[in-house]
Amino acid sequence: MLDLRPYQAAAVQALRVALAGGALRVMLYSPTGSGKTEMALAIIHGARAKGKRVIFLANRIHLVEQASRRFYASGIDHGIIQGENTRDTHLPVLIGSIDTVARRGFPDVDVIVIDEAHAVAGSKRFRGVVFSNSARPIIGLSATPFSKGLGKRYPELDGPLFEQMVVAATISKLIEVDFLVDAEFYAPAEPDLSSVKTTRNAFGEIDYCERDLGKAVDKPELIGDIVSHWFKLAAGTPTVVFATNIAHSKHITAQFRAAGVAAEHIDCYTDDVERAAILARIESGETTVISNVGILAEGWDFPACRTLILARPTKSLIRYVQMVGRVLRPFDSKTVALVLDHSGTVRSLGFPTDDLPLELDDGAPNVSAKPREREESLPKPCPSCAYVKPAKVHVCPKCGFAPECQSDVVVGDGELVRIKRGKRTIGPETKQHVWSQLLFVKQKRGYSRGWASHKYREFFDVWPKGLRDVPATPTQELLNWIKSRDIAYAWGRKKGVRHAPD
Ligand SMILES: [Zn+2]
Repeated sequence: MLDLRPYQAAAVQALRVALAGGALRVMLYSPTGSGKTEMALAIIHGARAKGKRVIFLANRIHLVEQASRRFYASGIDHGIIQGENTRDTHLPVLIGSIDTVARRGFPDVDVIVIDEAHAVAGSKRFRGVVFSNSARPIIGLSATPFSKGLGKRYPELDGPLFEQMVVAATISKLIEVDFLVDAEFYAPAEPDLSSVKTTRNAFGEIDYCERDLGKAVDKPELIGDIVSHWFKLAAGTPTVVFATNIAHSKHITAQFRAAGVAAEHIDCYTDDVERAAILARIESGETTVISNVGILAEGWDFPACRTLILARPTKSLIRYVQMVGRVLRPFDSKTVALVLDHSGTVRSLGFPTDDLPLELDDGAPNVSAKPREREESLPKPCPSCAYVKPAKVHVCPKCGFAPECQSDVVVGDGELVRIKRGKRTIGPETKQHVWSQLLFVKQKRGYSRGWASHKYREFFDVWPKGLRDVPATPTQELLNWIKSRDIAYAWGRKKGVRHAPD
């Protein structure tokens, strides 16, 4: 009836063992593309074979509809509890929207399956379901079980929200066995986020404040950069863009269109008919680029999508993994997906295809859910071509650019901090890096190219030569150095000393 892949069968078996061993609330971690629904269907078939009644709970209407279609396709007749669509509630298998169930009361079932269960920790309604069913088995399904507090202990429950996690597969394992494709990352630029405040999101994670973000990233020059890099690295490929807010998404769409690319925007106000039409156009290839804020991050399946543009900076691992998950599904000749990161996320959170935290967060303070805070284990963009290299990879696998031995450079936290002036030659990588940072400051402050050249000369005693014009976010050290030079210059002028930079 169900043809499960080996790891799926093993995961379903591990769940059974956990429940038989006395666990009541078990999380099944199953990455996007691993066949979460197949495993859920196997669980439901198994429960039905034992005569048990089951409810499958979802937190969005379209996820209820999607589940219903999959259940019918798998031969599971079922009732629905969802607003006006409610019907056949006497059937032993039910699909329910959490909102309607919370309003109308919980049906009489033996097993509860919660879809997108990373929302449980942050959703009062979901937690209510867990608290009021503390004696019934609950199976949580999630591709991103990284919310704060999913494993938090509650006295009412006599234990944690979820007691155990069963890992069906990891993203890297799925790539290894060709159930997902790998992704290449390019990080051509990152916005200046120094003025953006942070706040807790619905999953208890720290993330950027949306309003501040909009101001920081919704700028014509940054959007122009997105479009030009897409032409350079991904022209013509089916592409999904994640923007910061609706206005930003519309501005990105408009710039793509102005450049002659068939681009469309979609958001939560797009009505069902228009939404279906837009998605049909991207699937048929009539539309090349689709831009949104978050509506396509969950439950949207478009395997042909090859390129992802991250224009929405985030500190949230859940959001990041959801967004990248959109392009990892295999399709025809697609051997690798492309991620164009204009948000600085891969540099701060690492590759989402690397190993992610595989433990439920117990909600204790100071235990950050950040997977890789150690700078040395984070990937870095090649200063020459912007290809994001894994940590410790010396020569760029894309363009062959090889940073020289950094013996003349003092390195702290993986960042260039200061050049030791001495007899040793300063490597081209160091020069490129400083030049890139100066270009960034020049652009941001509206200075001339001459300013950058002079500052470069002050730094190295030579004029910039043979370097690429790729701006890079400056380190605090470089900014401090510029400031110190400005102060020195101002003092020089006060004292009536001629102190031109050259
Ligand atoms: Zn390179």
